[in-house]
Amino acid sequence: MTANQPITVGFIGLGNMGSGMTRNLQLAGFPLVVNDIRQESAASLFEAAAAGAAPVTWGANPGEVARLSDIVITMLPTPRHVDAVLNGPTGILSGIADGGTWVDMSTSVPEVAVRARSEQAHRGLHILDAPVSGMSVGASTGMLQIFVGGEADDVERIRPVLEAMGDPERILHVGAAGAGYAVKLMINQLWFSHLVATAEVLAIGVKAGVDLEVLRQSLIASPANSNFVQNDVLSILDNGDYDEGFAIALACKDLGLSIDLARSVGVPAELSAVVEQIYRRAKAQYGDLAGEMTPVKLYEDLIGVKLRRADVADADAAAIAVAVSASVAAASVAVAEEVLADAVLAETVSPVAEEVSA
Ligand code: NAD
Repeated sequence: MTANQPITVGFIGLGNMGSGMTRNLQLAGFPLVVNDIRQESAASLFEAAAAGAAPVTWGANPGEVARLSDIVITMLPTPRHVDAVLNGPTGILSGIADGGTWVDMSTSVPEVAVRARSEQAHRGLHILDAPVSGMSVGASTGMLQIFVGGEADDVERIRPVLEAMGDPERILHVGAAGAGYAVKLMINQLWFSHLVATAEVLAIGVKAGVDLEVLRQSLIASPANSNFVQNDVLSILDNGDYDEGFAIALACKDLGLSIDLARSVGVPAELSAVVEQIYRRAKAQYGDLAGEMTPVKLYEDLIGVKLRRADVADADAAAIAVAVSASVAAASVAVAEEVLADAVLAETVSPVAEEVSA
């Protein structure tokens, strides 16, 4: 690399995420050296290079990728894959120059990097974790959210590379090495929890006879609203799309890592454990490659109803119905409070209490 040349980026892992990320690096003008166990995964990069885009070189193995690049990025399924690609006989460590830079963008845990940092301390390597959010759509549009853990100087140095793949406003330096992994795992944990909670609530409400969109609009208008209810669930409700761009096997991997992290810092994670088991049930039922939102299908199958919005006109009508009923509800709050007070005074026996005492 000279002062006037763009840096050469090595990239290992050209799957659902890595394919879009490398395409955007290429569009931004970075020469690439790439590797994957599936050589065909680089075909479109080579086609683009032949048509005049930035050049691409195939690295025979991760060590060669590291040797031919100024910075090496990994985007691999699990910590086990990251370990193999880093430490294998022809792994990154066999080819990277002293003082070189390795950025792991996989959703993973710090152990592999911690070990490399300590065993390779004499080599002055720069090691960062920079996992992402934004699904395969974000990877292909170059609008990923990136959470970077590492030294501030390193983060600024690699920022132009990250900006080619992510939304510049949402590339966040979240702390020292390892912090990026932790932030990413917590984001996924909360999102998966939102998904399961929403699926359960929609299934119960629909089974209780409420129109799906009226229920969803009511949730949106309430303190229980969430980004999942308002936006992300529409992928299923409108298109029956459970997001196969992120396999449920990987979602289960993330949930397992998240619980491992909780255990390692001594924080009980009861809710996360239940969510993980529901995800594992969906994986067992629908297969490893089913989409990350497939747990919703468990609930659909349970109630025998596909959760789908009718059409946009109906959706608008539902929103109006909710707005009208919200104003009626506001007017009748006082009445409701009176009724509630009467019920408490009368010690009304609920159906649940009857069931328990039966
Ligand atoms: P993927 O399975 O589609 O891609 C992984 C790629 O790594 C594959 O092309 C595979 O052939 C390659 N690979 C595996 N072992 C290898 C090895 N030893 N050497 C070289 N290449 C190897 O996975 P993905 O969906 O792209 O996810 C990658 C990472 O990004 C995961 O950690 C995932 O949790 C995370 N992630 C995924 C999404 C998403 O929506 N798909 C979103 C955010 C984060």
